[in-house]
Amino acid sequence: MADGTRRRRGRFAPTPSGSLHLGNARTALLAWLQMRAAGGEILLRMEDIDKPRSRAVWAEEILRDLAWLGLDFDEGPEEGGPAGPYEQSRRTGLYEQALEKLAAAGLLYPCFCSRADLAQLASAPHGLGSEGPAYPGTCRRLSAGERAERTAAKSPSLRFALPEREVRFVDGLMGEQRFPPGAGGDFVVRRADGIIAYQLAVSVDDAAMGITDVLRGMDLLDSTPRQLLLLEALGCSAPAYAHVPLLYGPDGARLSKRHGAVGVAALRRSGVRAEDVVGCLAHWSGLLDRPEPVRPQELIGEFELACVPKEPVVLDAAALQRPGSAV
Ligand code: GLU
Repeated sequence: MADGTRRRRGRFAPTPSGSLHLGNARTALLAWLQMRAAGGEILLRMEDIDKPRSRAVWAEEILRDLAWLGLDFDEGPEEGGPAGPYEQSRRTGLYEQALEKLAAAGLLYPCFCSRADLAQLASAPHGLGSEGPAYPGTCRRLSAGERAERTAAKSPSLRFALPEREVRFVDGLMGEQRFPPGAGGDFVVRRADGIIAYQLAVSVDDAAMGITDVLRGMDLLDSTPRQLLLLEALGCSAPAYAHVPLLYGPDGARLSKRHGAVGVAALRRSGVRAEDVVGCLAHWSGLLDRPEPVRPQELIGEFELACVPKEPVVLDAAALQRPGSAV
């Protein structure tokens, strides 16, 4: 937890598997404002560890979009800094070290379940949501002999064995959160193809980069108990977390490409002004009564996490077609 003597450090951590949409841009704005209002530092971390899904062109476009919106970063892929590199694809050595530490503590086990085995669980009701159905621990019960025999035939994924206890934390916006023992099931920390899983990479990086404050979308709320357990197992202190409700389209679905021109790059190219987009993002975040054109700098004095609505924001079709047209 932030102890008040350390300078606060936040981060925005996009995955370059597509262009930045308005929901991501709003999270970036809020994470940036939280640190600027606190006199802290804000880092940019490119979460490009999943090479098959990540593209350099998307990473470049995200950097351009953030700069266009007026969000500057103290450390990041372009700025550099003492906690770098700031691309996850260049940090795999750190993740491997963490895996060794967890394995030495007896907290990992190999899992041989196929996609088809896991798909069969899809009807199980105990999932944690964002990562599909809860894993029932099938491979946790294998004997050492069975593990050796199966490893010879197939490379396994690695799972973290959840402890039998509740996980709690106080979310900066949503208040106390409690997750029952085993919620979500044992999760993957390294995939069978060798790719380090999001949960491990993000926990290692938040600790290694000295992050004190994580502000991110509500879709990652379920990930927080897992990251808290990993941080504890690695002997690292945990940041303070705040999860902001997501933006939804008029059809009630989470904002995505199919809602039209919600990509920041598309708006930029269509001639919309950055101030108008920022004004809308601020309005949807409870920081402005109406969507007036504004620069992020001008919002620093207005920022309070408590202003952000706790309910999902549903956007109407006009707002989506041309954010800022109402200004
Ligand atoms: N890279 C993740 C995403 O784009 C966010 C990670 C985080 O904020 O913890 O969804």
